[in-house]
Amino acid sequence: MQNDRYLRNIKLTELGEYGQEVLFKAKALVVGAGGLGCSALYGLACAGIGNIHLLDHDVIELSNLNRQFAYTPSDLTKLKASTIVQKLTQFAPDLKISFDAVKVTDEWLDQYLSIYDVVLDCCDNFFATYMIGDACVKHKKKFITVSAVAWRGQGYAVLPDSPCHRCLLPECPEESDAPRSADYGILGAVAHTFGSWQATEAIKALLDLDKEQGTRLTSYDAKIGRWKTMTRSYSQQCKFHQSVIHK
Ligand SMILES: [Zn+2]
Repeated sequence: MQNDRYLRNIKLTELGEYGQEVLFKAKALVVGAGGLGCSALYGLACAGIGNIHLLDHDVIELSNLNRQFAYTPSDLTKLKASTIVQKLTQFAPDLKISFDAVKVTDEWLDQYLSIYDVVLDCCDNFFATYMIGDACVKHKKKFITVSAVAWRGQGYAVLPDSPCHRCLLPECPEESDAPRSADYGILGAVAHTFGSWQATEAIKALLDLDKEQGTRLTSYDAKIGRWKTMTRSYSQQCKFHQSVIHK
């Protein structure tokens, strides 16, 4: 580990050399290398997360560049995963950064999720969020998810003993109910805000800094400049949670 590189991290009293070592040994999985994923990945790399693995099967399109700052016009039609991993490796050569250019599936998660300490869902679609969230409950993994569109976003971090995504909303909403940035647009800076928020929550989870009981939902409306947080405690574990935890 290059200590000088992480000097400003180590200066944080909650982190110190011990915390930096924890981060350097940590394994993070990021699903999605779009607007959220670009910021989340760079946030993790800046923190010195030693092992970062990315899943993304998309290629770079010109309309991505209003928010996906890791790519340039010369990267068009290339795979996002290989492109951003190459750039991240140049940025932080002391970290192990890898990728699979595949779509996330139940099979992939069942086979590999046990390797990771924390999972960042940067997909921005309900189906993937519920698939990844279910797998994180099964494997008792820390799960950070966000949805962001237009000027707004919301997210939450689920720790293994906290209410899960299905405790909050039992059934996966129809994809047609989800507002999409392809229809409503999204400001790049709003996507970056939430990608950075995901990285920050992941770092806090890895360092066990969040002592609050419950799952905290955070939302931000950039148009009126207002953040809101709401903490959900268990009233009753969802049926899925009960079936997984108590079997
Ligand atoms: Zn639950």
